[in-house]
Amino acid sequence: MTSSASPVIVDIDLQAKGKHFGHIRVPHSTHESAYGFIAIPIAVVNGCSGPDVLLTAGNHGDEYEGQIALLKLMRSLLAQDVRGRVIIIPRLNQPAAAVGRRTSPLDEGNLNRLFPGDPMGSPTAQIAHFVDTVLLPMTQVSLDLHSGGSSLEYLPCVYATASPDTARQARLQAAVTAFGAPLVLMAQQEISSRSLMACARAHGHLHFATELGGAGTTTPATQAIADRGVLRLLAHLGVIDPVAPPPDATRMMRISGSSQYVYAPVRGLFEPAFALGDTVQVGQPAGCIHFPEEPERAPCELVFADSGMVVCRRVPSLVAPGDCVAHLAADF
Ligand code: CA
Repeated sequence: MTSSASPVIVDIDLQAKGKHFGHIRVPHSTHESAYGFIAIPIAVVNGCSGPDVLLTAGNHGDEYEGQIALLKLMRSLLAQDVRGRVIIIPRLNQPAAAVGRRTSPLDEGNLNRLFPGDPMGSPTAQIAHFVDTVLLPMTQVSLDLHSGGSSLEYLPCVYATASPDTARQARLQAAVTAFGAPLVLMAQQEISSRSLMACARAHGHLHFATELGGAGTTTPATQAIADRGVLRLLAHLGVIDPVAPPPDATRMMRISGSSQYVYAPVRGLFEPAFALGDTVQVGQPAGCIHFPEEPERAPCELVFADSGMVVCRRVPSLVAPGDCVAHLAADF
């Protein structure tokens, strides 16, 4: 085996015409299953010629809108209605998704911080490597559906990284607008060089992600954005026939720097002074951290270091140093 050969296989032919369900098999030999593998559900819907699109969710296992939207799409999408090929994976980090956790219980792997992966590494690193070496090269467009997960809640949004190339940026803006979330957060740089987003962009993909709510659950409103957004993107790409446009205009905002993030400096109970969606000014109180073991001690007060709209908040009230309690976005 060469250093780049993956032990991961997929048990269906992703080139075959028609619609096929199968599994990505990640070898995993355990006490309970000596010759076993991790079975990650996958479907390919392959019609006549057109773009090759990779749709993923469950990269973080505790984010549910995308998982449910892609399960619906797997059942409803028919090969005769598709111009191109759609590869659908609702639970990319299946072991994490099976237990509703951000990270894998097998190796504590955070899949979205392990790209481009390692064929000889942990199960999570092997999944990343398979995406990098097999799935991204055979596709040109990819969407990775995220939400805030157990610890964060977002205003439902698309999340993309801006391109310095004018033509690529125009194509990206057209695609994220077509998805039809109420809000688009355009980051000026990658949040992590080890993410699926960074890896897909390195492959030259038209790629974006979402942050559709969170707090470890899904709602009718956020689910509808996911369900319809996936169809609106496929229609925008010409893969399926046109669908109804989004009900409201998309607001485009910018993620530009560390001053937009508020972090807890100490351990305690966080009392926010803001709500999701509030517009705040630099220097405005963000809240305070109480010390339940030292009731006589004055709370630690936090302030916003920037102005903008609160687009994300921490869900659990218990905080420790380094926990992000809020982040802002700014108008263009
Ligand atoms: Ca996520």
